[in-house]
Amino acid sequence: MPKPVLLTVDDDPDVLWAVERDLRSRYADRYRILRAASGPEAMNTLKQLHSRSEAVALMLADQRMPDLDGVGFLVQATELFPSSKRALLTAYADTNAAINAINEAKVHYFLMKPWDPPEENLYPAIDDLLNEWADSYRPPYEGIRLLGTRWSAHAYELRNFLARNQVPYQWVDVELTTSDSATQALLKDEKGNPLDLPLMVFPDGTWLCDPAPLAVAQKIGLRTHSDVEFYDLAIIGGGPAGLAAAVYGASEGLRTVMIEREAPGGQAGLSSRIENYLGFPAGLSGQDLARRAVVQATRFGVEILAPQEAVGLHVEGPYRIVELADGSRISCHVLLLAVGVQWRNLGVPGEERVRGAGVYYGGGVTEAIACRGETVYVVGGANSAGQAAVHFAKYAQKVVILVRRESLRSTMSQYLIDQIQKTANIEVWPLTEIAEFHGTNQLEEISVRCASTGTTVRYPARSVYIYIGALPKTDWLGDSVHRDERGFILSGPDLVKDGKRPANWSLDRDPNLLETSVPGIFVVGDVRHGSVKRVASGVGEGAVAVQLIHQYLAKVS
Ligand SMILES: Cc1cc2nc3c(=O)[nH]c(=O)nc-3n(C[C@H](O)[C@H](O)[C@H](O)COP(=O)(O)OP(=O)(O)OC[C@H]3O[C@@H](n4cnc5c(N)ncnc54)[C@H](O)[C@@H]3O)c2cc1C
Repeated sequence: MPKPVLLTVDDDPDVLWAVERDLRSRYADRYRILRAASGPEAMNTLKQLHSRSEAVALMLADQRMPDLDGVGFLVQATELFPSSKRALLTAYADTNAAINAINEAKVHYFLMKPWDPPEENLYPAIDDLLNEWADSYRPPYEGIRLLGTRWSAHAYELRNFLARNQVPYQWVDVELTTSDSATQALLKDEKGNPLDLPLMVFPDGTWLCDPAPLAVAQKIGLRTHSDVEFYDLAIIGGGPAGLAAAVYGASEGLRTVMIEREAPGGQAGLSSRIENYLGFPAGLSGQDLARRAVVQATRFGVEILAPQEAVGLHVEGPYRIVELADGSRISCHVLLLAVGVQWRNLGVPGEERVRGAGVYYGGGVTEAIACRGETVYVVGGANSAGQAAVHFAKYAQKVVILVRRESLRSTMSQYLIDQIQKTANIEVWPLTEIAEFHGTNQLEEISVRCASTGTTVRYPARSVYIYIGALPKTDWLGDSVHRDERGFILSGPDLVKDGKRPANWSLDRDPNLLETSVPGIFVVGDVRHGSVKRVASGVGEGAVAVQLIHQYLAKVS
């Protein structure tokens, strides 16, 4: 944003030059000093500034000018810049006229000519005017704006996408800003036709209506496509396990690409505070961890393609080929699957209708502020539900944890149970579950069934966050690698049954630890059958995998 403008107008070239010189010597570091030799010329300048939405802090006009006198100019200028400060420059003889003009043109100040020395007769007055202007001036927001309603599932998806990719943006809830003329102007195209929501407006004035995240990614310059077709190591999934493997792989000289469907950070990126990760005694947010890891990986030269989804896998001799959602392909010597797990839904009536419009899965870190003053329902009894409840309690009026068991003791860490007990606005409702969601376009009520009383009661509800465990989404792998009945990927010793190696296993050795049923395809993190579902274990597996990958590469390449 350019500096705010100080505009001085005088038809006398010597006076104009002197005013400009004095203003420049004191204010040029914070303001742009512009000058005009007449009222009409100054009005042209102001019109251009106005069309570019630039700020004018002060207009300083001489009273005695042909065509348009100072007061006349300031009256017109006020229509374009009503909050700019206005000062009139007068000679002794004009004093009465100037005083009258204070009422007519709402002039804030008049200065007598000559003003030498400026330190005494000019700067104190201008300083006051500029300080007053700066106090009330709110620079226009210049970044990306997302306009929509809180009840739109697509708006929720886009907010999540921007937040998780750490793209700064301003959320404008159009239901709360109906009387704001600036917002209303954004909602129409140049011909006055209404634009579809959610609407994303970019700093250059262009917009995207109802955009897919991929379109947004391309517009804001996220890298979704690789120019290189072959890598030593391709990693699918940018959660803690994938990021750790990327850092170790690239730092040890492997040409590495990481493909991430949503945003680097994975499930950990949804965590408001990870308190059990080594080296961070005060805990750290999942987004912070993701941000640090991405910086580290990038520094070692990892190519991160996000958002980009792997949708197919082929093996051709020593090459592993990944098909991407945009139709392109990436080949590699070694493939690492780090695709984690997806949150499950409750599977109760009404859920599909209000998904993303009051019912959310596993998220909430960035949404908590929107729940200010409301009652938020959190479903689940594990650590993720506990963390979310503690986080929501900072904003919501009340947080209710619905848990099917008698207590949280067997499923949640004690430190979280202690925090919940100490938080006055969190209630735990044991032996309860949601039986139905009510609402057409947005959540309005929930039916809660209580196992101890056998009753079902309806409660008004606007926000329900569900954390009831997760399952892998690995169908896209087809039969290429062996999976268990729930979709978790088998590796290492789990593949050897009664001393027999998996079918089609081509090597004269057993699958290595973390190696799948296809040589050169490894698996780490939550998606691995039998894994410990923790950030640290995912990171550890990512690091170990790279060691095993080196051993594999030493034999095949
Ligand atoms: C709210 C919450 C709080 C948590 N708190 C803690 C905690 O305090 N301490 C702790 O130790 N653990 C915690 N966990 C668990 C921890 O986050 C997970 O164990 C960890 O993130 C698993 O890492 P991962 O890399 O295996 O998988 P994920 O983190 O699930 O990452 C997998 C990534 O793969 C991507 N992906 C999936 N399929 C594809 C595809 N086909 N193409 C491209 N990309 C794909 C996904 O978008 C995702 O980003 C928490 C989890 C949640 C949800």
